[in-house]
Amino acid sequence: MFDIPVKKVEIFEVGPRDGLQNEKEFIPTEKKLELIRLLRDAGCARIELTSFVHPKWVPQMADALEIIDHVDLSDGAEYNALIPNMKGFLRALETPLTQVVTIMSASESHNTKNLNMSVAESLEQMREINRIAREHNVKVRSYIGTAYGCPMEGNVPFEKVKDIALALEEAGSYEISLGDTTGMASPDQSFDIAYDLLKHLKHARLAVHFHQARGIEFANILASLQAGITIFDSAAGGLGGCPYAPGATGNIATETLVEMFDSMGIDTGIDREKIRKAAFYATSLSAYHRGTCS
Ligand code: MG
Repeated sequence: MFDIPVKKVEIFEVGPRDGLQNEKEFIPTEKKLELIRLLRDAGCARIELTSFVHPKWVPQMADALEIIDHVDLSDGAEYNALIPNMKGFLRALETPLTQVVTIMSASESHNTKNLNMSVAESLEQMREINRIAREHNVKVRSYIGTAYGCPMEGNVPFEKVKDIALALEEAGSYEISLGDTTGMASPDQSFDIAYDLLKHLKHARLAVHFHQARGIEFANILASLQAGITIFDSAAGGLGGCPYAPGATGNIATETLVEMFDSMGIDTGIDREKIRKAAFYATSLSAYHRGTCS
């Protein structure tokens, strides 16, 4: 009989940040706040609200401070924001947020292209961010992008991903999320990476962050679950991609993930009907879903 000894998983909702950041037309702050409210109402208990990235690079996230200002950070949910670098981190430190999310890639080319740093330089910065974060009682969650493959380099050796994950754990990151940045992961690879890494991490938690890959993403979820993963990143409505941006597919859809876990008797803490409502609202904000992406 099919048996997974897990009755409860965590969904890490990235819609307000990862889902919306690529939208070209600025989405009014109150609409982003309404999406956050609907997600919270549906039971989402971990939400990535925004990003402290320079507005020149991601104008959609220019209202980060306003978003933080208008969300009740003490309502029992865990709220956080992405910080692409030290500058963003220092901005986030001036807010009441108690958790930030860092990002770097396992592939040198992707890390250089995205962050203008080598992997070693990024790791050095992660150590410094973690050091300052500890002084301020701020928790650090860390993404490792291109963990399952890189659009420029192709295969990314598991050893590299493992070394980065262990270095991040050592630096102090309490949770590490493996990103399948451009939807290249396969189910067997998803199982192997998660299974091996879970054996090597001593105390950091491990999450997975899959993007749409013509349905293969759900097989990757199941394979990761079987390997022992219980934390899954997703975006309501599957937002985050644009068919005209090569390599940038949308995030795995929260509502489908919830439906899948529900059908398996696995508790997500999220209401199926309400998350569909939030997903419907999320897609209404997206030019891609309205068919006007360019
Ligand atoms: Mg994503």
